[in-house]
Amino acid sequence: MARRRQIYEGKAKILYEGPEPGTLIQYFKDDATAFNAQKKGTINGKGVLNNRISEHIFTLLAGIGIPTHFIRRLNMREQLIRQVEIVPVEVVVRNVAAGSLSKRLGIEEGTPLPRTIIEYYFKDDALGDPMITDEHILAFGWASQEELHDMADMAIRVNDFMSGLFAGIGIRLIDFKLEFGRIWDNDYSRIILADEISPDGCRLWDMSTGEKLDKDRFRRDLGGEVEAYQEVARRLGLFPEGADSAVLDLETHRKRRGK
Ligand code: UDP
Repeated sequence: MARRRQIYEGKAKILYEGPEPGTLIQYFKDDATAFNAQKKGTINGKGVLNNRISEHIFTLLAGIGIPTHFIRRLNMREQLIRQVEIVPVEVVVRNVAAGSLSKRLGIEEGTPLPRTIIEYYFKDDALGDPMITDEHILAFGWASQEELHDMADMAIRVNDFMSGLFAGIGIRLIDFKLEFGRIWDNDYSRIILADEISPDGCRLWDMSTGEKLDKDRFRRDLGGEVEAYQEVARRLGLFPEGADSAVLDLETHRKRRGK
């Protein structure tokens, strides 16, 4: 079989050349990293779950008019996407204090924020993704004023939609990270949502118990990562093919640990 050309390998995904010009295949790995890849591990079945969860959320977002790179899911670990020029900026949206915000500003995790906060980080592993402001983005030309406006606008719409989606299944959307890309049509370009939306890049807390259903289970050595991701998929109404053997519900996991 002819080998597909690999375009890029990141921490959690691999990009391959797509079947048509302007398309790519996004492959979801089980690899997990945290703290700028200082902590590395594998979460068996994560790729399958993230592929499915991201497909679901991107499809729903397209339904409310958010343009995304997602075309269709191809199999358990792969999806066909539009090739974009990635904007080197990570857009973080926060509803509740957690993670780096809590640490930096001394605000207790779980404190609701007085308003939704958008933050920007420069996508550069060697620099550890430093926080930046819109001034840096504009000064260094990473995005134009109009593109920045479009990204912030979409980020707020995604937040409103996802907050409701997760609230409906008993999950608090604490914060999340988005990435955007540029697509060209002759001399014109526009910004679309890219990358993925999954428990790898969101903080999701169970509304009644406060239990973490996201990558903090890995970052903080809490265990039960797959079970948590599976719980998110299950509540979203997704039953990933083939992932069930790798997956236990949280109750079973707790029993296994004898708690
Ligand atoms: N996030 C991410 N990739 C990153 C940094 C952050 O997906 O490189 C997500 C993270 O999962 C969380 C949100 O963005 O949902 C805010 O993360 P934070 O700034 O608190 O960083 P952390 O403490 O998680 O490193």
